[in-house]
Amino acid sequence: MNQVTRKAYAKINLGLDVLRRRPDGYHEVKMVMQTVGIFDTLTFRKGQGKEGLPDISLSVDSKELPCDKGNLIYRAAELIMETYGVKEGVDITLKKNIPIAAGMAGGSSDAAAVFHGLNKLFGLSMSLQDMQKLGVKIGADVPYCIMGGTALSEGIGEILTPVAAPPSASLLIAKPDINVSTKFVYENLHADTLKEHPDIDGMVKALQEGSLEGITGRMGNVLETVTIKKYPVIRQIKDIMIANGAENALMSGSGPTVFGIYTGKERAGEAYKAMEKLGLARQIYVTEFV
Ligand code: ATP
Repeated sequence: MNQVTRKAYAKINLGLDVLRRRPDGYHEVKMVMQTVGIFDTLTFRKGQGKEGLPDISLSVDSKELPCDKGNLIYRAAELIMETYGVKEGVDITLKKNIPIAAGMAGGSSDAAAVFHGLNKLFGLSMSLQDMQKLGVKIGADVPYCIMGGTALSEGIGEILTPVAAPPSASLLIAKPDINVSTKFVYENLHADTLKEHPDIDGMVKALQEGSLEGITGRMGNVLETVTIKKYPVIRQIKDIMIANGAENALMSGSGPTVFGIYTGKERAGEAYKAMEKLGLARQIYVTEFV
């Protein structure tokens, strides 16, 4: 096999709670992760090794992203090839579609695609667990992205429990034209003094019962306490989604992307038009759970 292509899907958080800040600076989280139908495409081709060392070449169709070690794709490829002693080289191309620095784990999902892609290209026989164990070294969300689907994520994000997928629904996803640094959000979150916590256990139960109402009724993200204060546009987008028929709307991850859940594609389509007209977000998508 000389070429492998993988889709790297974006995620949203149906619920996101932060339990505490650990002494090492990491935050202990409790989140419900969900894959959605927005994806990047990565292609992997065997290349030449350089003086007995693996040579990694990365080309990206977005000017915003680096092609060197600054890119999680590069870092994941290097880690895998060093760990498994791969002597050949690899040429990787990325077609970027997931909004960048948006709270949709685009970079982590690309890194996860590298695990699957190189596993197949070089016949490495990594199990899902092998990939996840190595993947966490690249980022806390990478182990989840390696498995995808619906999952409860605990610890720093590495303790994963698969959960039943939600009933089908339409999603409107909108990213306002602002960049939110994940670091800024967590640094300004006072996890110990949070007054309200989303009912993540209730959300998991609603998922197991297949109740869309139970899910939408429990959507909550404690990181909104930081981002909405600084960027009121996030609140505005949520309000517009709800005013245009969403069962509920929430910021994903550390933001600024907002998603709304709709019971029909037509409703989501109408809300898309309303959102486009108001000009608060340039990147808008109608999609579904994957
Ligand atoms: P999360 O939801 O995990 O917080 P995010 O969606 O907020 O992630 P990403 O799009 O994954 O953020 O990227 C955050 C930063 O990581 C970007 O500013 C970018 O420079 C860097 N980065 C490195 N590699 C990638 C990649 N392959 N795709 C996107 N961003 C990348």
